[in-house]
Formats: sequence, C-alpha cells, structure tokens
Amino acid sequence: MRKPMLAGNWKMNKTRDEAIQFMLAVQDNLPKTVESVVCAPAIILRDMVKRATTLHIGAQNMHECESGAFTGEISPVMLKDTGVEYVILGHSERRALFSETDEKVNAKIKKALEFGLKPMLCVGEYLSERDAGKTNEVLERQVSKAFDGVVIEKPSDIVVAYEPIWAIGTGKSADSYIAEEACAYIRGILAKIFSPRIAEEIRVLYGGSVTAMNIREYVAQPDVDGALVGTASLKEDAFLDMALALKQVVKRSD
Ligand code: PEP
Repeated sequence: MRKPMLAGNWKMNKTRDEAIQFMLAVQDNLPKTVESVVCAPAIILRDMVKRATTLHIGAQNMHECESGAFTGEISPVMLKDTGVEYVILGHSERRALFSETDEKVNAKIKKALEFGLKPMLCVGEYLSERDAGKTNEVLERQVSKAFDGVVIEKPSDIVVAYEPIWAIGTGKSADSYIAEEACAYIRGILAKIFSPRIAEEIRVLYGGSVTAMNIREYVAQPDVDGALVGTASLKEDAFLDMALALKQVVKRSD
C-alpha cells in the first residue's frame, strides 16, 4: 500500500512567524491516512521541525558536497542537523534558473540517501518537448540519470514528482489522463532501473497548478499517489482541503 502524499513547496515564501502560524492552523486537522509535507525555506526549517506534530518537514534543495567553499549553499550535514525529513531535488526552477544538470541531481540524490534524507525528485518536460512528442524521452533521461548507481533500501522513502514545466505556476494544470500517463510511464522506468516490486512501492506525485478544486481528479488515477503543490500550499485552508481530499484515497502496491 502506498500512503497518499500531499507535499507543499513553499519556494521563497513565508517568514518564520508566518510558517508557525500556518502550522498552528493545520496540524490538529490533518488526516492520519495522508502524509502531509511542507518543504520550506532553509532558514526556518529548524523552527518548523521543533513544532512539527502531524506535519512532515522538507527542504527545497541541497548541495551535493558535505562542506567546502560553496558560498550560500546548504550541505546535507546541515540539513540533517535541522532534523528535516525530506528534500526536493531537481525542481525545474533549480534546473532552469540555477543550471542544475541531471548529473548534479544524481549526486544530490546519492548524498541525500547517505545522510538519511528522503529525496523528492522532480522531473518534467517543457511544452516544446511535449509538442514535439518527446515527453517520454525526457522522463526516461531525467529519471534514469537521477537514479544512476543509486541503491534503494526503503522504496517508501523515495518520491518522484511528475511536474510538467508548462503547468507549474501557470494555472494551466495538466489533464488528469496526461498526469496518469506520465506517472505510469515513470513507474515503468523505475521498474526497469530497480525492480517491479520497488517501483510499486515508490510514490509518484503529480505537480503543476494543483488546487483544492482539482486535486481529486489526479489522485483518482491509479498511478498518481498524491500531489506536489506550490501556490495553493501557501494558504492554510487550501492545504487542509487538499489533505482532506486525499483522505479516502487508497493506493495498492500489489
Ligand atoms: C511547484 O513549483 O512545484 C508547483 C507545482 O507549483 P504550482 O503548484 O504553483 O504550479
């Protein structure tokens, strides 16, 4: 059984006080059958971890080296020290705006696992790539390179998010059949890299303009195990509504 997941990506939003306010508003009402995660700015992670009861806390990025002359970067040692559980890796904004390559993402995944941090790998195509019929090719490349040489001990600790770049922050969410097609394809790639059993246990999420209004359509699909949400995860009410929408979802991994 794969536990449905709601993961919020706050990006560069919220101060410490705003984050604590959010936690106070949602934590008592989150359903236990859903894993609800918030990936917050690094500077407030420790304060959030201290107050986390039902929420799981994640970071949004991590450098692949343990220490060194990398001004402004955050190492896996430092993240581990905050007590954080998850880390988003390879988000399209990191790839596009900070020149992150598949090779870097691969090194980050290995380091995260070495330090006991659970990686949330983001993959997805540009609209031009979809229009050119290259979506599967892009997913195949991103997923295979990200997991090259990776040994998975606990598949339920791994999350892959299908985030078509044209749907992120645009309000143009993908049709649910497109999300299912891509998430199923990703599971197939994972089965080839690892094994069908491992692939069945890894959670694959959809991300891209998900809201409390449309989340049900996605998680009704057999291979969509939840959502990675940017904009709509910033509001307490919307976050709770989305978590409650996942409450009844059952994902069999056999
Ligand atoms: C994201 O950035 O991961 C994302 C899915 O953003 P949004 O929900 O705003 O499209």
